[in-house]
Amino acid sequence: MPSFRTLLSASLGLGLALVVAPALAGRTEDFDALFRQIDDEHITQATPEESKSDLARLHALIPRGDVRRELLYRSLACFEPPDDARASLAYAQQGLADARQLGDAELEARFLYCRGAFEEMVGNSRDVIPLYTQAIALSRKAENRALIADGLVARGSVHSFLGEHAAALADFMSAQRIYETARLQDRIDTNLQNIGVAYRRMGEFGKAHEYLVQSRRTALREQDWFSVLAAWLQLGFLHEDKQQADAALEAYGQALEVARQHLGAGDAGSAYLGIASARVMRGEYPAALRALALARADFASVGDTSNEGMLAMLEGQARAGLGEAAAARALFNRAESHFAAERNERYLAMLYPERARLLESAGDTRAALHDFKRYVQLRERLHDATSEQRSLMLQQQFDASQREFENRRLRSEKTLRDQQVQALLRARRWQWGALALGAALILVLGTLVARQLVRTRRLRVLASTDELTGIANRRRIELIGEDAIAQAIADGRSLSVVTFDIDLFKRINDTHGHLAGDQVIIRVADACRGVLRQFDEIGRTGGEEFLVILPDSARDAAEQVAERLRSAVEALRWEDIAPGVRVTISLGITSLSPGDARLRDLLSRADTALYAAKAGGRNRLQTA
Ligand code: GH3
Ligand code: MG
Ligand code: MG
Repeated sequence: MPSFRTLLSASLGLGLALVVAPALAGRTEDFDALFRQIDDEHITQATPEESKSDLARLHALIPRGDVRRELLYRSLACFEPPDDARASLAYAQQGLADARQLGDAELEARFLYCRGAFEEMVGNSRDVIPLYTQAIALSRKAENRALIADGLVARGSVHSFLGEHAAALADFMSAQRIYETARLQDRIDTNLQNIGVAYRRMGEFGKAHEYLVQSRRTALREQDWFSVLAAWLQLGFLHEDKQQADAALEAYGQALEVARQHLGAGDAGSAYLGIASARVMRGEYPAALRALALARADFASVGDTSNEGMLAMLEGQARAGLGEAAAARALFNRAESHFAAERNERYLAMLYPERARLLESAGDTRAALHDFKRYVQLRERLHDATSEQRSLMLQQQFDASQREFENRRLRSEKTLRDQQVQALLRARRWQWGALALGAALILVLGTLVARQLVRTRRLRVLASTDELTGIANRRRIELIGEDAIAQAIADGRSLSVVTFDIDLFKRINDTHGHLAGDQVIIRVADACRGVLRQFDEIGRTGGEEFLVILPDSARDAAEQVAERLRSAVEALRWEDIAPGVRVTISLGITSLSPGDARLRDLLSRADTALYAAKAGGRNRLQTA
């Protein structure tokens, strides 16, 4: 979900009380600090009560006569829940007019975003795109990076809603690059899910899975339960898209756990709905009906009526499965009217074949044929739309930008690590000083020691980095490998490993010296890291030997990656290090097979393949 909607829902319950909050003049620094904090909480999902009191505090801090800060306050309060969407739109318009009069690009952008959010709510999605485009341009003018990227995410969500997934993905990816550069970790995490969903809707299931799993992991780390729930649900949908009912059921079960343990009423409903759908898929109709009853009750407890169509369709499928044809037919008709009213073609395309089957078994062949024809038409249209979006995506060459984005991530991680080492060194010095001060400082020291323990643990992580190249060392990459293999076996997913070794490296050392040799190793490692995909992992296992773990990659994909590695190294230039030298690598590839349990099972095959590649003339790949 984009930040604007998040704040919108987060500030539910915020009343007009704010407007009459005591107008004590505040200091500008206090106002600015609180403003920044609330602005960032767009993402971290403050509760409605928290938002309400935050905004009231902010209002109290507006310095007297400070028009700009008053407008900043109004731009946040603009996301008030719409008792009356029209009135909210008017509020946004007024803010916009005032911002224009002040000639302030940032404020203008903020009110445009707010207005866009309300236009979306009243169903004017199509009109919102130019609004957001204009707001993004204004945010650029104001040089506010977070605001630019938030706008891209908002516009991407509208594209996604309209089925324009390539455009959505382009916006999400651009936003991600900005969040990366600005190191806005919360927003990076939230946006991972947007990217995953866009890929899923385009039928790019492998990529969707990578991003959704990653988003679940980060949400879990941040204990952002709402995002954890959403990620599990999306993974469930993904498994259903792939006709994997068992895996879908598992994902929805996890979603239910999260909803029950950490979230409130209304949030379990979607999980139950998913469970019902997976049960229907497995032909377990009574269990599906039980889940549907629970879903209904949960939605009803918060007055959510947006799932009526889906509830009716699933119950219809369950009733049909139990032989209750008349009830099933009535339910399908009800679902149809809901889906038609929402103009949801995807759901209609799911409904028609179900009803056709029912009608056919009741002997009503004419009606069945009619439904079937409608289904075929819809499918074709949806399929065309998906292929169009896919080819658009290819044209826009996301892979290139994705690689670039990944490289940036690695670079910023390295900087972060360097900073951590510096902080650690500083803390050490400080600690010795404290010791010298003696017993009076024992209390302080106690805290320091505790902190030091945490830092030592971090240092251990740093110790898993290869000093020469900065990539994972042997121990670390083997741990990553074991973990990835266990996960792949548990999920029934593919995985490959590649080992490679620099060709005739002794000669390089002998001719140009050991130092030049080291430089060669560094540059090869850098180049290889640069061509890997987001979730691939590389480590240095020995002198000039490397191991690459490729999750979710079967043989073909692994060979493509290996070829990218080979050609990336071959293309390197060496004039500055060792003139006249030519560096190549040989690679061995193997994929997870039924008998494999541990990393070593794959490593021995990959190494054999690597020797074969050497024997075959070097600078080539060999698959085991
Ligand atoms: P091949 O194509 O068969 O791999 O030939 P090669 O000469 O590369 O043979 P091999 O892989 O067995 O040789 C590895 C050499 O790499 C041996 C060692 O002197 C050198 N080496 C190992 N670690 C380092 C290092 O950290 N820095 C440098 N400069 N050289 C290293
Ligand atoms: Mg070697
Ligand atoms: Mg070698």
